[in-house]
Amino acid sequence: MRLYLISDNVDTQMGMRLAGIEGVVVHEPAEVKKTLLAAMDTAGNTEFDEDTEKKGLGTPATRAGIIEKLIYSQYATRKGKKILPTDDGKVLVEILPDFLKSASMTAEWENQLLLMEHGEIAPEQFMTGIKNMLTMMLNGCDAISEEETRRFQTRESIGTCPVCGSLVYESKTNFYCSNHDCHFALWKDNRYLQSMEKTMDKKMAAELLKSGCVHVKDLYSRKKNMYFEADLHMDTDETGKVNFSLSFPKKKPKNKSKKK
Ligand SMILES: [Zn+2]
Repeated sequence: MRLYLISDNVDTQMGMRLAGIEGVVVHEPAEVKKTLLAAMDTAGNTEFDEDTEKKGLGTPATRAGIIEKLIYSQYATRKGKKILPTDDGKVLVEILPDFLKSASMTAEWENQLLLMEHGEIAPEQFMTGIKNMLTMMLNGCDAISEEETRRFQTRESIGTCPVCGSLVYESKTNFYCSNHDCHFALWKDNRYLQSMEKTMDKKMAAELLKSGCVHVKDLYSRKKNMYFEADLHMDTDETGKVNFSLSFPKKKPKNKSKKK
């Protein structure tokens, strides 16, 4: 298995952040987190010298946090008991320069920290090394072509899921919860709104996610052959099922004009 996760080393992380990189993702099929933790423990061990004190990626105390960060940054996602790379995660692993993906880089810096701790190298020497590495990282990222960076989806979420709190995104046909275990979605063409000749647009969906209710002006009543306005309410149950209902706020007298 190929496992590329980048350091929990603070300086490395800072460099990564400067470079706009949060971390890198497991590239192979699903891994149970326990297995993933074990893999992080031994990742890259063959690259290290026997006397390297720190091996693997992160420490037992920080490994779970690194995985969480990848999920939070949307480079990985949970699916049941599995943790899967997202499309962005796969792209990142493909386009990052190899030295950034190397587990031995982490160990090397940890080693340098130890040497400094033992007084074997001066703090200035350590910082010079860090600066050089940052320059190399930034140059490495600059070298990534525009075409490659465009492979990342520049998705913008439209709100948070009322069932699980994950981010909600727009697709061609719906607004869906990014959590694979959650079934919440608002369909653009749904029977409830279709009966009033209305489709769910982004603005409506965002407002529903924000407040559970949105005022809609151009709903159509076939029975009365007229347009009307109403508040559309959204209720969800724990399975992610959505129920809509309408309410009719009292109109102010001055807006009494009726469409005929
Ligand atoms: Zn959800």
